[in-house]
Amino acid sequence: MSKKNTKNNEENPENWKENLKIPKKDTRQRTVDVTETEGHDFEDYYLQVPLLKGIFEMGYEKPSPVQEKTIPVALAGKDILARAKNGTGKTASYLIPILEKIDKKKKHIQAIVLVPIRELAMQTSQICKKLSKHMGINVIITTGGTRLNEDIMRLEETVHVVIATPGRILDLIKKNVADVSKTSVIVLDEADKLLSQNFQSTISQLIGHLPQNRQIMLFSATFPITVKYFIQKHLKKPHEINLMTELTLSGLTQFYAFVEERQKVHCLNTLFSKLQINQSIIFCNSVKRVNLLAKKITELGYSCYYIHSKMSQEDRNKVFHAFRNGATRNLVCSDLFTRGIDVPGVNVVINFDLPKTSETYLHRIGRSGRFGHLGLAINLVTYTDRFNLYKIEKELDTEIQPIPQTISTKLYAD
Ligand code: ADP
Repeated sequence: MSKKNTKNNEENPENWKENLKIPKKDTRQRTVDVTETEGHDFEDYYLQVPLLKGIFEMGYEKPSPVQEKTIPVALAGKDILARAKNGTGKTASYLIPILEKIDKKKKHIQAIVLVPIRELAMQTSQICKKLSKHMGINVIITTGGTRLNEDIMRLEETVHVVIATPGRILDLIKKNVADVSKTSVIVLDEADKLLSQNFQSTISQLIGHLPQNRQIMLFSATFPITVKYFIQKHLKKPHEINLMTELTLSGLTQFYAFVEERQKVHCLNTLFSKLQINQSIIFCNSVKRVNLLAKKITELGYSCYYIHSKMSQEDRNKVFHAFRNGATRNLVCSDLFTRGIDVPGVNVVINFDLPKTSETYLHRIGRSGRFGHLGLAINLVTYTDRFNLYKIEKELDTEIQPIPQTISTKLYAD
């Protein structure tokens, strides 16, 4: 890598690479949606050294395709509309340009990242804090389910970047605690969810508090019609990036097992005993079924946690961290957990209940095969699900095969 793109001064000493704490290299096989790059280096983007240090210490060696496409455009200040598969590095593709542009001498909030759920906010803020570790800036997270007073206190200090769920940050703006009148960039991650009916008015109000010349970036794996209206109203000649064409489900092998409802637990038991699961996520279609299934799995003697929207935030946090740190092998959940959550250890996703829509299906099974690793998705399908299965296959232009007697570990346990 060349040194030509960094200025040498006190902040950017020539030998800055010598003391980097780089994590162990991940040598697992990767699919083309993260390897088929144009060959950029992070140094090609003229980023400041403290940020480059953070990037390399995350273990990122080179930008992924979505990062190559997004970072230069975002640095140029353009509005962006980006579609990329889950797990291909979207988060860093907006965080890197945001961080590069932060002027730490200025005391106002300069960037907001909005995400639809609290766990995703936590994950994003952790990445942001790690990336900006050497920059000396202040990143805060503010979400529902936590004490408002604590957020108010934290906002008394200088805050450069806010990672938030929409309701809480709007509340803080309305209370004149968070001043976003000079915030120059806002990101909507999982934009389709953020612009769904539940959130739309909150987001519109929020945008209304930002200055006219703000930069807006939308990221999502899917862009339904609801988003189109928002784009027309709020974005200025957005630059479109679409990496979804053939990549949607690459690296994932999908199977279905045709079962009766009462055979499902038995079938799951068989899967547990036969598959080489590193970590698995098992989806049910209701909170009640999550509770019941988690109990059954524990009774069968397998390690298992569960998470759903009716649990307290404190419990949700505990479970999320424990699962991410590998403290338990299996996680049963409702669709609360489908979006954007990055647990690198997950190589198997099981739809204990088939989801209703192909969009949910895509988000759910996007949980395995993160960052181009291989993964397995298994669907337990009942008689009543059969048309839905066909519809999902058709809408996603994909093939879901009947489950074979034995599944080669080469497909998912690399
Ligand atoms: P997405 O937002 O697209 O769903 P994430 O940003 O969560 O995906 O990234 C998925 C995984 O890939 C994370 O574990 C992240 O640390 C890793 N990752 C992101 N960018 C790179 C990179 N350039 N090189 C190596 N790993 C990366």
